[in-house]
Amino acid sequence: MRASHQFITEKFQEFNRIIFNGSLPDVRIAVSNARTRLGYLKYVRLRPGQKPAPGHYTLAVSRYYDVDRPELEDTLIHEMIHLYLHWNGINDPTPHGPNFIAMMESVNCRYGRRITVSSRTTEQKAESDTNIRMHYLTTVRLRGGERTLTVCARTRIFEFDDMLGRMPGVESREWYVSTDPWFNRYPSVRTLKLYKVPDQEKLDSLLATAIRCEIAGKIFRPIPPGTPADKKHFF
Ligand SMILES: [Zn+2]
Repeated sequence: MRASHQFITEKFQEFNRIIFNGSLPDVRIAVSNARTRLGYLKYVRLRPGQKPAPGHYTLAVSRYYDVDRPELEDTLIHEMIHLYLHWNGINDPTPHGPNFIAMMESVNCRYGRRITVSSRTTEQKAESDTNIRMHYLTTVRLRGGERTLTVCARTRIFEFDDMLGRMPGVESREWYVSTDPWFNRYPSVRTLKLYKVPDQEKLDSLLATAIRCEIAGKIFRPIPPGTPADKKHFF
């Protein structure tokens, strides 16, 4: 299931009653489309001596991934623990410090939950991400022979191509457009990063159905079918 505002609001009230003795403030609940984090708690930084108010907080859960209900609930409770600690002025040296861990383990134990500190998107979640989006891809052949993949923010295509052209370790590069959800697992970067792809065969099979593109000046365009491979790099 995916998070909805109504579900998260109702569950927030329920868990507040059952787990937190109704001690949590009525904060703003939001449902986000975040891909990189399943939930987060946002709050305004307090001045020294300032007391926190409910309006200072926004608790958000992402609706991006289709996950099972217990996992969605665990994500919400994870953020509620952050809220509890901050609301009560209990400070940890890191976001998931000893106080967080102690409370998380106690909730897991008493309520049979499986809350974790990791909000990394797992391979399984990556597989469940079947949303269709446009991806601008560049594959880079390095001098050592290795091939990397970068999913690029649309606004960075020309800048990245330029940078790659001047990088001494780069042998060649190719550009593609694909809507295949497999690429959703890669962040669409605004700062150039070259990602290793463990499964090169999988990448080849996906590139075979992607649209090969070229950059000519300030134009990013598909390469007409039938263009000989050895001509593709000349503009
Ligand atoms: Zn956390």
